Amino acid sequence: MDKATEQRLLKHAWTYGHFRNPAYPETHEVKQDDYWMLSVDNEIAKQAIESVQLSDVQCDDLCHSYHLRGLDADGDAGPATLALLDIPRCDVPDFAMGEDEFGLTGRGGWSDCDPEREHHHEVVIKFDDRQAPPKWQGYMSEVKAGAVKISADMGLSVRYIDWNSDENFQSSVRFEFIRGGVVGFYYLPQGSGCRTIPRGALDTSFLPDVETAIILWIHEGLGHGVGLQHRAARRDPEGRLRGIMNPSLVRALLSWRGDPSEGDMRRLYTGKPVEPTDPTDPEPPTPDEPYVVATFKAREAGQDFKVITGKKGGGFGDF
Ligand SMILES: [Zn+2]
Repeated sequence: MDKATEQRLLKHAWTYGHFRNPAYPETHEVKQDDYWMLSVDNEIAKQAIESVQLSDVQCDDLCHSYHLRGLDADGDAGPATLALLDIPRCDVPDFAMGEDEFGLTGRGGWSDCDPEREHHHEVVIKFDDRQAPPKWQGYMSEVKAGAVKISADMGLSVRYIDWNSDENFQSSVRFEFIRGGVVGFYYLPQGSGCRTIPRGALDTSFLPDVETAIILWIHEGLGHGVGLQHRAARRDPEGRLRGIMNPSLVRALLSWRGDPSEGDMRRLYTGKPVEPTDPTDPEPPTPDEPYVVATFKAREAGQDFKVITGKKGGGFGDF
């Protein structure tokens, strides 16, 4: 492997958090100024590369293409691992910067933070379609309906409002051109309080078919937007692919039930179905459960990102 390829692989591993995977604590010793000096044969670098290999189901698929066998994750980077770098993916890191910021929990809720937001299982998303490509506009209503349906099945009521609406909202999604093989991202700006609005963006140059568009929409606009992190897709006993939060987009089944993220959704939104777009009636079934805070760092700008998801009850400032 030439030096440029080696550095590209290590940069990918660093950028997407694979020197911070809790499963490989030795990699945490490597600092930002040093990772690029490692050789891919270095034992610690190999642990980070193994983390990369296990993070995305497409590495396994690529092994079948190149080697006629499944992934044997060992940190040795061959053509399948390198091909993974060329697959467009979500820009949110697979593991957050700073172990102490990762997966923080506390007690809190939207009601203290935002008195008008009584029900944790409702999220109003402002949707800016002014730059949406024509292909997206053609299937947008189908995409939104799919997102609303699978969320309601898990206890999360989702409602979309137009970009020029005056109504309060808790999350937003827009279209913009994004460089560098990135299909979308989600973030909260640095210094944000609990009322800061998480923002999602979808790349205007990525023109998927409708099934993939629904996956992307749910991954960015709902998954990260309500506090989920990446989880590698896997095949269920029937051989069907499950994994809406895989870092790259895969044709996963459109349901959180049976998905690797199902446990996360149950923890946050109970998993008990609600009316898709009628958030005003039901009380939160588990009002005192902790909320989850996850912190990300921007890839380019170096800003801190936070994704916060809330549950009713308690104070928001405990963490
Ligand atoms: Zn993502």
